[in-house]
Amino acid sequence: METMRRIVLASRPEAAPGPENFRLETAPLPSPGEGEVLVRVRWLSLDPYMRGRMSAGPSYAAPVEIGQTMGGQGVGEVIASRAPELSEGDLVLGGVGWADHACLPAGELRRLDPALPPTTALGVLGMPGFTGWVGLTEHGRPRPGETLVVAAATGPVGSMVGQLARAQGLRAIGIAGGAEKCRIATETFGFDACLDHRAHEDARSLRKALAAEAPDGVDIYFENVGGKVLEAVLPLMADFGRIPLCGAIAWYSGDAGHPDRLPALWRAILVKRLTVRGFIVTDHWDRLGDFLREVAPKVAAGEIGYLEDVADGLETAPAAFLAMLEGGNTGKTLVRVS
Ligand code: NDP
Repeated sequence: METMRRIVLASRPEAAPGPENFRLETAPLPSPGEGEVLVRVRWLSLDPYMRGRMSAGPSYAAPVEIGQTMGGQGVGEVIASRAPELSEGDLVLGGVGWADHACLPAGELRRLDPALPPTTALGVLGMPGFTGWVGLTEHGRPRPGETLVVAAATGPVGSMVGQLARAQGLRAIGIAGGAEKCRIATETFGFDACLDHRAHEDARSLRKALAAEAPDGVDIYFENVGGKVLEAVLPLMADFGRIPLCGAIAWYSGDAGHPDRLPALWRAILVKRLTVRGFIVTDHWDRLGDFLREVAPKVAAGEIGYLEDVADGLETAPAAFLAMLEGGNTGKTLVRVS
């Protein structure tokens, strides 16, 4: 019997997840039904939202059930097809999950442009890059001369936001974990400045350093992380500032803390007449074509750069995922599956 390998959710984490929450399994290789194709997975994308799907609480994405394959997007090659629109050898993008093979309806897969490296469909030109573009464009409403701050600045979302902001004449200040990531933020991604949040013991110290880099205040805080960084930035917001609320990774494992500080945060939103706009990329798929038309040529021309952090082998996915949640990645986290 032909088999495949997959990683399932073994248990739900109480707080920070660990390797014990995952299990590598062998299963019979499925064969495609009418309208389906069998895909050999080449690349798997690991993304912060997957932490939310490990928990049972209500969220915008349904939880993964215990014993179910961890969900996720990947790129693979069609190796058997019972759908007229896809043929053996086609390179496709879709929800393959943490597995080395996947059987999916052809309608759920997108054939990739062979001219671009396939991994770009998972990072810079995929869901995270699109998130940065749509969040900045629609909810940040950037104007030349303004100041923007974004954390996780070397990741696929933050690096897209920073590069787009710079290209539109904004001052882009990155926040990242460690001196090396800050060097990458300024040298590779062109941020005007980058602050290492790990070098600051508390929000007050980080705020002081940020105030020196943003003397006229922060017009756009593209919110990726929450936690200490949010506390540092919020009091520095300029009047009529915008906060596209994209993510809050510092709080994904339970420590949403500080309810006593909420009134102060709330008051800052009023006094400064801020616009805080939570958004989820899946509500914006209608803009994907606009994004690809604008950004894909710039990526192909090297005008927009990207970094990838590649782990080798499906079995390394849990460790790579756990490391990414803690900032152990530099660039888009990917697993080379085959
Ligand atoms: P990254 O590849 O940048 O990885 C996450 C990064 O978060 C880490 O590398 C680390 O960077 C940073 N981080 C982790 N913990 C903390 C912390 N306590 N304080 C500050 N920074 C921390 O991720 P992505 O670019 O894929 O995603 C960035 C954010 O965007 C996430 O919050 C994600 O959930 C969100 N997102 C939201 C979407 C939406 O639809 N709203 C869609 C896609 C992503 P460093 O070491 O530099 O601190």
